[in-house]
Amino acid sequence: MIRIYKSDESPKKLLKKGEAQKLIDCGEFDSHDADYLSGKKKLDELKLTKLNPNIYRLAKEKLNESHFSKCCYCELIVKLPDHLHVEHFRPARGVTKEIGDKHLLYPGYYWLAYNWKNLLLSCGECNSHYKKNLFPLDDESKRARSHHDDHKIDEESPVLVNPSLEDPRQHIIFDYETPLHKTERGRLTIKILGLRSGQLFERRKEHLDKLRESEKDIECFEKLEEYMAENPEDERLQTIREYLESRAIKAAEFIQSCVEEKAEFSSMCLDYLNRPTA
Ligand SMILES: [Zn+2]
Repeated sequence: MIRIYKSDESPKKLLKKGEAQKLIDCGEFDSHDADYLSGKKKLDELKLTKLNPNIYRLAKEKLNESHFSKCCYCELIVKLPDHLHVEHFRPARGVTKEIGDKHLLYPGYYWLAYNWKNLLLSCGECNSHYKKNLFPLDDESKRARSHHDDHKIDEESPVLVNPSLEDPRQHIIFDYETPLHKTERGRLTIKILGLRSGQLFERRKEHLDKLRESEKDIECFEKLEEYMAENPEDERLQTIREYLESRAIKAAEFIQSCVEEKAEFSSMCLDYLNRPTA
């Protein structure tokens, strides 16, 4: 997980269409507020916050300018854009207050369903399999329950690290392919998002193997250079030198590309390349 630098401005169409939908949703809530707060009426069933796909299409393109087709949580590159989900940091349709809790607290943050600040892009696994409606707070009594509590949003202390508002690397670092927590929020974020899942381990390991290969290519070239410096009369090695040099250049370029913000698993690569050497 790395810091994501989203533009501060919502795309104009999202703002306009999202605000219009929000007004409808808030009006519907106010007409049956007790029923929505108790969960007697639910957003899905009563068409409140239909999570209009046309509005999200507008958001997706703009979000991808800062997400680079990567999941905001696990940093997996999702090759098919349709497989990247618009993720609501604060869930719009109901909230699970803690890991393992089977009950949804209704109605969720319906008034933030189209709020630019609340939107991120994530992969299907993080969005639908792990995080789902989970949104624990440090202090449950401070939770905003409806659009009338919007002013309380800043008083909430979410447990989950928000990569668009803070640097996740202050909370989660990597030991090779294993994510480690630096803080309690980091520990819970790893758990909530399943960042230690077997599938992610495999993908990260494959990526690290490529990095290691690149390091070996560079080492090989450096060793040959050393040998040739000590044995300048050995001209037969010139062809090998050219071959190894071109591999080393490509390897250095690859290593450099792995730590760019658009690179898959860039946080892991940064920690691997900055690991203490023996
Ligand atoms: Zn993910």
